[in-house]
Amino acid sequence: MANVAQLLQQGVDRLRAAGSETPRLDAELLLARAIGVDRTVVLAHPEAPVNTSSEAAFNADLDRRAAGEPVAYIRGFKEFFGLALAADPRALIPRPETERLVELAEQEVLQRLTRAPRPVRTSPLRIVDVGTGGGAVAIALAVALRRRRMLDEVSILGTDISPDALALAQENAVGHGVADHVRFLEADLLPPVIATPFDVVLANLPYVRTDAMPGLPIAASFEPSLALDGGPLGLSLIGSLLDRLPEALTHGGTALLEIGGDQAEGIAQLAAERLPDWQCQVETDLAGQPRVARVERREGGRAAA
Ligand code: GLN
Repeated sequence: MANVAQLLQQGVDRLRAAGSETPRLDAELLLARAIGVDRTVVLAHPEAPVNTSSEAAFNADLDRRAAGEPVAYIRGFKEFFGLALAADPRALIPRPETERLVELAEQEVLQRLTRAPRPVRTSPLRIVDVGTGGGAVAIALAVALRRRRMLDEVSILGTDISPDALALAQENAVGHGVADHVRFLEADLLPPVIATPFDVVLANLPYVRTDAMPGLPIAASFEPSLALDGGPLGLSLIGSLLDRLPEALTHGGTALLEIGGDQAEGIAQLAAERLPDWQCQVETDLAGQPRVARVERREGGRAAA
């Protein structure tokens, strides 16, 4: 019987040859899955024998990964903001950089809820996650607010143009016990008519330039291109959302929009064009890359609508 260390090494060699960017991590996660343990167990017990059915399961998963399929789709979930979220080809796999968006959203909501005493029966803070995909941002925010016992003070809506993605989002919301607090709605960005504007608009829209799509890792070709392709400059959908902010955001409302590391200038320019009286600031992520644009009406400015 082969042991953990031997199978791991075979897996690493195989995935490295197949072009994985993270062959060791991938092999560790897949071997742990095949054995039915946590990755730390695999790391802690290199000498442990692995039975032949686990070995066969490992090899089958290596075949899939070597063909380019993302580890998150093989395992069926991805860790995001401390949660295990179901992941499958219905939606984009949540990315670690998007945790920054959730962090900023949580801070923003917290500030709004604690800034001034909120009289009883104040209506909940309205938050929308535009292009929610598998629901990662909306659900991670809801879980974070539940920990702070603030979930009842907000209403969270997740929208997406893909009914498949929304079905996955709904499953994730149920799985994390926030289905009563996060509502999902099929829409092209936002509903055509917005009866009550939102206090906070969040979005991780597709922002990859169309001509950069073929250069993404093969794993990305297993994800819906709808969730990645942001048009010629990568900012087509973000631009369409900016156009809707005057009606979608309350006065004093804030939009937090994820962007690519090379789009800080692009978003500033786009915002200046589409929303001349507004301000746009870019926040960086943990790697120091531009990552989230904060778009708001300029205080005292001639705000539209
Ligand atoms: N950061 C993602 C990637 O490079 C892009 C996500 C998006 O388009 N919203 O794969």
